[in-house]
Amino acid sequence: MPELRRDPIIGRWVIIATERAKRPNDFKIIGGEPDSNEKCPFCEGNEALTPPEILVHRKPNTKPNTPGWDARIIPSISGFLNIKGELDRHGKGMYDLMNGIGTHDIVVMTPKHMCNVHQISEEQIGKGVGLLIKRIEQLKEDNRLKYALVFGNHGKAAGGGSLGHLHLQLIATPVTPKRVKEELEGAKRYYEYRDRCVICDMIKQELKERKRVICEIDGLIAITPFCSRFPFEVWIMPTEHSCDFDKAKPNTAKNLGKIYKHIFTKLSKLLGDFPFNVILHTAPFRRRRKKSYWETIEDDYHWHIEIMPRLTQVAGFEWGSGFYINPMPPEDACKALKEIKV
Ligand SMILES: [Zn+2]
Ligand SMILES: [Zn+2]
Ligand SMILES: [Zn+2]
Repeated sequence: MPELRRDPIIGRWVIIATERAKRPNDFKIIGGEPDSNEKCPFCEGNEALTPPEILVHRKPNTKPNTPGWDARIIPSISGFLNIKGELDRHGKGMYDLMNGIGTHDIVVMTPKHMCNVHQISEEQIGKGVGLLIKRIEQLKEDNRLKYALVFGNHGKAAGGGSLGHLHLQLIATPVTPKRVKEELEGAKRYYEYRDRCVICDMIKQELKERKRVICEIDGLIAITPFCSRFPFEVWIMPTEHSCDFDKAKPNTAKNLGKIYKHIFTKLSKLLGDFPFNVILHTAPFRRRRKKSYWETIEDDYHWHIEIMPRLTQVAGFEWGSGFYINPMPPEDACKALKEIKV
């Protein structure tokens, strides 16, 4: 069983892979690309190469784990967390740890071997997003879990694998991650002070200033945020207030497909096959908690997607300070993106 260890200074959790621990020599950096002839396990027809599907968007009259699907969720074979067992949180002297209960899923976004978001249709993206919503609803039923983080990595510089086949990942954890907690606390503080949601206010101001709004499509807005950490960082959020991504309106999946494809087409036209990370920030699963903790979350937190092109290096200064140095003002990034016709 992997272990979750809590940093006693800042409260950040680290997953320590105790079972599949690597040997010190495994980290040696060796040049060369992995074998490109390797069969892609995410392609239609290669279902036998992956664990059985958890959720799937299938064509009628096709059997599970066979061809005939549009999007599927499968367990990750290199998952760091384990869904079996009881949650066991304990202390060891001054340190806090717990066993690594959780899930690590892969959302395969297309049956064809496509590597870039702009290559697939918005309907296709919508199907993948629809599955994600269903999966989050499922995980919410598990009392041991507190958070589902959806993310995607593309390109070597962003930690993406060599496989390339378009997919997202979902890791559900028994604790709320520190980054999310910081956002939750910040949003709550803002709400206590002004009685309004910080992201709703941000949207209002951005719509007024029109310097960082890339587009507005069917109830979703895309902006280059005022405090962009990375060149061409883009946030997508619903214009109508909502704290839970999985409780979004029925056509959100479809609309998200539209704006997601629109933004990635623009970014790709400008930046080529750029490395990026994308994350979804939504409210944690709420239960078994002191009531006061969650009293205002439905009003103070607002789900959003953060797209972070990794064109600059995060180096010593950033790691040491938590600052980011961004050489591209978000106003200029927005202007450039708006000018690109799609
Ligand atoms: Zn493939
Ligand atoms: Zn809001
Ligand atoms: Zn966020």
